[in-house]
This record gives sequence, structure tokens and C-alpha cells, in this order.
Amino acid sequence: MAELSPALKQATPVVATRGEGVYLFDADDRRYLDFTAGIGVTSTGHCHPKVVTAAQEQVGQLIHGQYTTIMHQPLLTLTERLGEVLPPALDRAFFSNSGSEAIEAALRLARQATGRPNVVVFHGGFHGRTVAAASMTTSGTKFRSGFSPLMAGVQVSPFPDPGHFGWSQEESTEFALRQLDYTLQTLSAPNDTAAFFVEPVLGEGGYVPASTEFFAGLRERADRHGILLVVDEVQTGWGRTGKFWGGDHFNAQADILVTAKGLASGFPLSGIAASHALMEKAWPGSQGGTYGANAVACAAAIATLDVITEEGLVENSAARGAQLKAALQGVADQHPQITDVRGLGLMIANEFRDADGKPDGATASAVQQEAARRGLLLLTCGAWGQCVRFIPALVVGEQDVEEAAGLWQEAV
Ligand code: PLP
Repeated sequence: MAELSPALKQATPVVATRGEGVYLFDADDRRYLDFTAGIGVTSTGHCHPKVVTAAQEQVGQLIHGQYTTIMHQPLLTLTERLGEVLPPALDRAFFSNSGSEAIEAALRLARQATGRPNVVVFHGGFHGRTVAAASMTTSGTKFRSGFSPLMAGVQVSPFPDPGHFGWSQEESTEFALRQLDYTLQTLSAPNDTAAFFVEPVLGEGGYVPASTEFFAGLRERADRHGILLVVDEVQTGWGRTGKFWGGDHFNAQADILVTAKGLASGFPLSGIAASHALMEKAWPGSQGGTYGANAVACAAAIATLDVITEEGLVENSAARGAQLKAALQGVADQHPQITDVRGLGLMIANEFRDADGKPDGATASAVQQEAARRGLLLLTCGAWGQCVRFIPALVVGEQDVEEAAGLWQEAV
């Protein structure tokens, strides 16, 4: 008998047998309020009927097409439909299966298009677990330790994180941009730098939103030096933050946008988008993969886009996010160890610190486990695991939010 690898660390004790909307059920039919959404993936809720129907119909017609061999209609339709939500300048797309693979695709494109070797990433960023993506990840040592050497050519510069520096947003943004200039002067000369890779809101790094000034500074330096701005929207896209893209909060203006997670409601699908002129600089045949743009996943993504539009899920994310944040702030006000409630839309973190003001991963984890015992599934994040995060499906209702906040209050 084989067993699962101990390297897989399960965050909750639940063995789920089915899912419906914001709920998961186990074999005893115990109901859990799922505020993890498969790490922000099931944007339309578990098994949304329209997504299920689209996938079932596609399974009966064509499961696997293989896009470097033949083309298939769901991929062509999805590509066309993405024009409804992408910034108009980003009119070419390439698809793969996971966020990490899409990050690698963006890296390949950036290096090929510029002929430059280096990238600059930002402290606390998470870009995935493949070796290249892990090399660009600094949101915790567990993602990098033990399998060095990592990829060369990655320089890390500060992210504007007011909580970390104890400064205002303006001060931390100014500091981050000055340090970026220093990085470009001392560690990675502009004509060696292919791209900046940045998240609009640090995800695994603790749900820290960037600022409009930071993105303006990145754009200005990118334009000045011919560096590409890669915006990693893997966790922040598809309405998660209360706008369609997380970067919309900050006028991010990506050269390459990276997406995954909420894109296909749980089917493995990811992609990058860039301008025609930039995408043409990728070397022919350098992007691809056996399973990329699976036909069923593409059909699910088209249905996901329909549901997000028809059910107003971006607006719901903003409204329910505001309700949830206010409720969590109310709990935090009574709890000396919860020192911050932050985030955008339905991407909200509660940060725990100990009596000395140090990040307190042990308490965050204990509270998360207690919440799970009470039927509320949550995840942690942050370099020390010091944050408990709430990322429910975007279909979450007012009552669900109330119930979750009540269970949270009991658990802390
Ligand atoms: N980029 C960001 C911002 C993410 O949050 C993640 C995953 O959490 C990734 C990339 C990697 O995605 P995946 O786990 O699908 O490889």
C-alpha cells in the first residue's frame, strides 16, 4: 500500500466528499464553511451548475486537444473572450496548467524578448514552487530551502510593506523605490535586467496591498530602462480583490500579466497575456506543454467568465469583502494579539503578534485549527505563518459572512 508523501502538509483535517457553493461536506455529511476556496481557486463556488454543465458537455466532445498539435474550439473561444477582461494592449495569450508554469512562461518571454538575464522580485513575493518560480519567491524559507542551487539572476528588492517597516504607506513606497534604484545601480544593471515580477497584493507573503505610487514608480523605471513589468495576478485576478484584476486598484499597467487560480473554477489552467509586439519576440516553439489549455478546463473558464459577469461576482467580492473586513476588525478590536486586519475584496488577513510584537505563527495556526473544529475552514499565510486568511468563493452570501465571522469570534 502506498501512502501520501509527508512533504504534503495538510492545513485542515477534512476529507471532503463533495462541495457546493461555499460549503464542503465530509463522508459523515458534516458541513464546513469553506473560506479557503482551494487557495482562492473556486471563484464561482464549488461545482457551480453552469461550470459543471459546460465541463460535462465538453468531456463528451473532446477532452484533450494538445495545442501544439491541433487547435480546439474552447481554446479559441476562451482566447477571444479574454478580450472582455484583459487590458486592451494585452491582446495575445498563452496558456499552461498552473501558476508556476505561467510564471516560467513569463520569465522565458521576458528573457527572450529583452535578451537580458536578470529579474528583480520583491520581498515577501510568492511566484510558485518550480525551481525558477521558487528562486523568485521570498515569502518564506520553506519554499526555497534544501534544494539549492536555485536559479541565478534573481535580485530581491523591498516591497512597500508599512506593517513590516512601521512606516506610513508613503514612506514605505518611497523606501521601496529608492532601494529599487539602488538594486539597479549595484546588483542588476538596467541593461542586464529583463523584468520586474510583482504581485499587486502579496499573497502567501501576508496579504499586503501595494500602492498606486509604487506601481507608478515601477512603470516609470520600466519605461526608462526597457525593463518589462510582469504583474503576477495568479491569486489577485478574476474578481478576488473586488476589481477584476488586483492591479486595477493601482493602475498597474503590466507588460505581461500572469493569471491562474480563479480562471477556471478549479480546473487546472493558467495563462500569460502580453501585447502582440512583445509576444512575437518569443522564440517559436519555446512555449508549450502536453496538457496546456486542456479543452475541458477552457470550457470551464468560459463558463466561469459567464458566471462572474451574470452574477455580478466582482461587485459581490467588493461588497462581501467590506462586510467581512468590518466584522473581522470588530473581533480584532477585542483581541490584543490580532494586530492588523488587511487586504482587498475577499482577500483578507488577520495578523497575529505576541506580547513582544513578534509575528506569532503558533497562535495563528492554533486559531485556524480551532476554527476548523467549529466548521470554518481557513488558511494561514505570511513568512512566519502569522496571518490567518479569509478567501472564500466570490459567490459567498451575506449570511455566510455573518456565520463565518461568528465562528471566527468563537475560535480566537
Ligand atoms: N503566483 C502567486 C501570486 C500565487 O499565489 C501562486 C500560488 O499560490 C503561484 C504564483 C503559483 O501557482 P501554482 O500553485 O498554481 O503553481
